[in-house]
Parts: sequence; structure tokens; C-alpha cells
Amino acid sequence: MVGPDAARVGGRRPLTGRRPGEPGPARSGRASARAYPGPVVVADLHAHSSASDGTETPGRLVASAARAGLDVVALTDHDTTSGWDEAVAASAATGVALVRGVEISCHHRGTSVHLLSYLHDPAAPGLLAEMERSRASRLARAELMVERIGADLPLTWDDVLAQVDGDATVGRPHLADALVAKGLVRDRGHAFATVLSTRSPYFVGHRAPDAVDAVRLVRAAGGVPVFAHPRAVLRGRVVGDDVVEELAAAGLAGLEAHHRDHTPEATAALVDLAGALGLLVTGSSDYHGTGKVNRLGEHTTDPGVLEAVEAQGLLDVVRP
Ligand code: AMP
Ligand code: FE
Ligand code: FE
Ligand code: ZN
Repeated sequence: MVGPDAARVGGRRPLTGRRPGEPGPARSGRASARAYPGPVVVADLHAHSSASDGTETPGRLVASAARAGLDVVALTDHDTTSGWDEAVAASAATGVALVRGVEISCHHRGTSVHLLSYLHDPAAPGLLAEMERSRASRLARAELMVERIGADLPLTWDDVLAQVDGDATVGRPHLADALVAKGLVRDRGHAFATVLSTRSPYFVGHRAPDAVDAVRLVRAAGGVPVFAHPRAVLRGRVVGDDVVEELAAAGLAGLEAHHRDHTPEATAALVDLAGALGLLVTGSSDYHGTGKVNRLGEHTTDPGVLEAVEAQGLLDVVRP
């Protein structure tokens, strides 16, 4: 097949006009040694904006994705879709395709689980209600942490509010930014290693939906649920293979195996587990702007996998 339809995927427009091996304009000849027969597509499926704890607005994030040479970026803010509209507009302006998503904080019998949802209906009541409950709890929890910290250090709630964009989902990163602004810690990383650590006396948890319930709610909303960084042991306890199996039985679509918080052994084990359970394998940067060292495109998702995600999702990928 030749001509404009050659790269058409599932009746949808291709995500890039380039052919395999043909470098894009803003790219320095990225490797494309993959089995996928379609066009070269560099897709990073997990990034945060200032709608949650990223440091760039949704529009600037998409512009950064263009500069980084990405063809596709997913906006996956914590427990909110409030950045979607601005990111859609930036997609048209920059030529970067957009996957609309969220990262849902969940628990599984006391262990923290992060679940990505792609391409769901943002107004689906079940999922929306859970995220709103989490956001309210995050706010109360942040206020309580500031109260505790404020007993020992000169930190006030106003200091934190100065770091929060509009009605962004408030998280420990905003407390970290306030501590940095006050000169009380060096950077976010230092704040997380000390004052904001889960082992710190100031730490307070927040409510979050059960992970199995969340997988079902994502599917009910037409979304594609992917387990974010399932073996990120530095963040705390992680769940075992048995729980991944339980989530798969509930409708989980994939595992984010390729992520900087995984050792090579953990990544390999997750790829094997995904194969055994028939799950997709994704990769991403988990970019947070200057809030973390993670660089856009440092891990990516195979275009064939992106195609499968889009086939399962209610919404289409936004093509510029
Ligand atoms: P929270 O959800 O409010 O408990 O905060 C956890 C969030 O903080 C994670 O989703 C990360 O985005 C971010 N985070 C965790 N550890 C670090 C770190 N060491 N440096 C910067 N950000 C971090
Ligand atoms: Fe985050
Ligand atoms: Fe996460
Ligand atoms: Zn994330």
C-alpha cells in the first residue's frame, strides 16, 4: 500500500507523517529499531503539569514535549483532568499528539498503588466522584501536615497556597516547594528525604480508592487502566504478582514496566509478568518539569501498544 493511507492505523489518521528511519525535524535521529511496521512514533505516556504537581502548565508541558522530539505525550495529572483542555489546544499549536489521562492514587490493603487511566470519559460519575473524594482528602491532609510542620518550622498554609496553581490537586510536592521557597530545604528531593518522608512524624496519609475498585471504575468510564511504576520500591512497599493478577482479572490493561524507578531486573520481571497475564507493556518518563530529574522521552511506549490503548479507550488520541 502506498500513498497517504499507507500509515493509517485502524481507520485513524497516523500519529506522524514520517516514515521508518526518516528523522523528524526536531529530532536528532532517535533510534527506531523496533518490530512495529508503521511509522516512527515516539510516545511518552505519563507526564504531570501544574494541574497537579508538575512545574509546567499543561500548555508548556506539551511545548516541552515538542522540543524533546516526542510525537505523542500523555497528560496524566494526579486525580484531575482539569489540564486537558489547555493541553488539547497546545497539541494543535505544537503538532504533538495528546493522550488524555490521569494518574489515580489508590490503595491495595494498605499499600499505595498508582493507576493510570487513558482516554476515559472525564464526566463518568463513579470515577469522577472517587477522584473528587481523594482531592478533598489530599487538601485536608496537606493542611494537617502543615499544622504539624508549623509547630517546629516557620511554614504556613499561605506559603503552600503560593505554590499551588488554581485548583490543582495538592500534594506533598507543593509542601516541598513551599519549604524550598522558605529556604528550609534545598529542593523537592531533599524535602521528600526528610520533612515529607512517609517515616517523618509530620507525615499524614490521605484516603484513596481500593485499586481493584479503581480498575473497574476506569473501565466503566471507558478508560484504559495501566498500573504505574508497579515495582518502584524506593517509594515504599509495593504489591506482589498475586495482586497484579487480581487487578488483571478486574480489567487491568497494562503494566508500566519501563520507568526510571525500576531496576533492570524489575523491568524484566514486569515484562515477563505482562506476557504471562496478556497485559500491555508501557514506558514513560513520569515527567514533573523541574520538580524531578526525569526527562521527557527517557522511556517510551511502543507505537503498537499505543494503538492497542487507543483501540480500547473511549476517546481518541488528539491528533494535531
Ligand atoms: P503525595 O501524592 O502527595 O503523597 O506525593 C507523592 C508525589 O510526590 C508523587 O506522585 C511524586 O510525584 C512526588 N514525589 C515523590 N517522591 C519525590 C521526590 N523524591 N522528589 C520529587 N517528587 C517526589
Ligand atoms: Fe507526582
Ligand atoms: Fe505515580
Ligand atoms: Zn506520575
